[in-house]
Amino acid sequence: MDLLDTLTAKGLRGEVPTREEALAVLATTDDELLDVVAAAGKVRRRWFGRRVKLNYLVNLKSGLCPEDCNYCSQRLGSKAEILKYTWLKPDQAAEAARAGVAGGAKRVCLVASGRGPTDRDIDRVTDTMAAIQEADPEVEICVCLGLLSDNQAERLKAAGADAYNHNLNTSEKTYGDITTTHTYADRVDTVKKAHGAGLSACSGLIAGMGESDEDLVDVVFALRELGSDSVPVNFLIPFEGTPLAKEWNLTPQRCLRILAMVRFVNPDTEVRIAGGREVHLRSMQPLGLHLANSIFLGDYLTSEGQAGQTDLDMIKDAGFEVEGAGEATLPRHRADVAAASSAASACGTAASACGSGGGCGPCGGHAHAPASEDTAASAAEDAAASDGELRSDLVKVRLRGAGTELAPNA
Ligand code: SF4
Repeated sequence: MDLLDTLTAKGLRGEVPTREEALAVLATTDDELLDVVAAAGKVRRRWFGRRVKLNYLVNLKSGLCPEDCNYCSQRLGSKAEILKYTWLKPDQAAEAARAGVAGGAKRVCLVASGRGPTDRDIDRVTDTMAAIQEADPEVEICVCLGLLSDNQAERLKAAGADAYNHNLNTSEKTYGDITTTHTYADRVDTVKKAHGAGLSACSGLIAGMGESDEDLVDVVFALRELGSDSVPVNFLIPFEGTPLAKEWNLTPQRCLRILAMVRFVNPDTEVRIAGGREVHLRSMQPLGLHLANSIFLGDYLTSEGQAGQTDLDMIKDAGFEVEGAGEATLPRHRADVAAASSAASACGTAASACGSGGGCGPCGGHAHAPASEDTAASAAEDAAASDGELRSDLVKVRLRGAGTELAPNA
């Protein structure tokens, strides 16, 4: 049985591939790409049908962060000309959220820049969630406020949050190369706190920061081990004015291979195409829907996406359908696990999800030496296709919606 048959059979059974099999997906050539998409697409349809979950971002507080995440336009010292504002008022955030829900979003993601929330910030977000739920009682709310202190996750859960987002972003061994003001272990700790409080854990990665295939596979397996219910896959948006502004090393083909690998390792988990979808997949976005079952509608935190109506048209044209408010996202066996975690948390016996182990080491910067002839061919194809060409013309800073007088894109 060849690689793709093996991966499809495992995925249809809900089994996780080996690390070597995941690496082999990233090493496939462009000639094999449609076969890879078709194989992973079968796994996606087995667990999620043709549904696409829409999520809508509301940036509650933008820019001026004291942390130094190299990929982030809101980081300490960022020269990116993004919107900068402090906390939106609850009614302002609710208005932006309403636009997303009216556009078809099932989940609203409330995000604030910063290392982590104060207890006063948790109060603010509690008021904001109440304002959103007053208008849309069915809407799912995911909160993303950075590193959590003790009891903050419990307070968010009690206030009505459904999920907490905190991405691992990259492998443990390269983490220190992208951020120095906090650690990979800090991030794992926050995901565990959220999960332990009965919040659905949303945690993902960023591809395109110069990482190796091994780094990508490491972080995806760590996310699986951590019990993330939703895995956002970001493709680096190299903002001018940030340290990674010149990291244009993704191709649409590479992005599709990464999404396929993430799907095979997370057959029954929500896989979301997150930031960078339009910038890097470009006209290949519809193929990504065969791999991921979730996307963001409209704009991102600090950059503009394509028009919300274009997202909806793309979903329909590709033969998919928007997931309704009454439909469960996760397959029943995964939803049961999440509910059990929540119940265990409520009675004070939650077992925290397991994180990844291993030691830290320096990052090699760009892609490691190819491990095989196939890998070499694939890497050469990716390098030739991207050609290091700077495409900053594709990055549009968000200048509408939350924090402005202009209507949101949804
Ligand atoms: S902590 Fe969050 S907002 Fe701050 S620099 Fe890092 S990613 Fe950006």
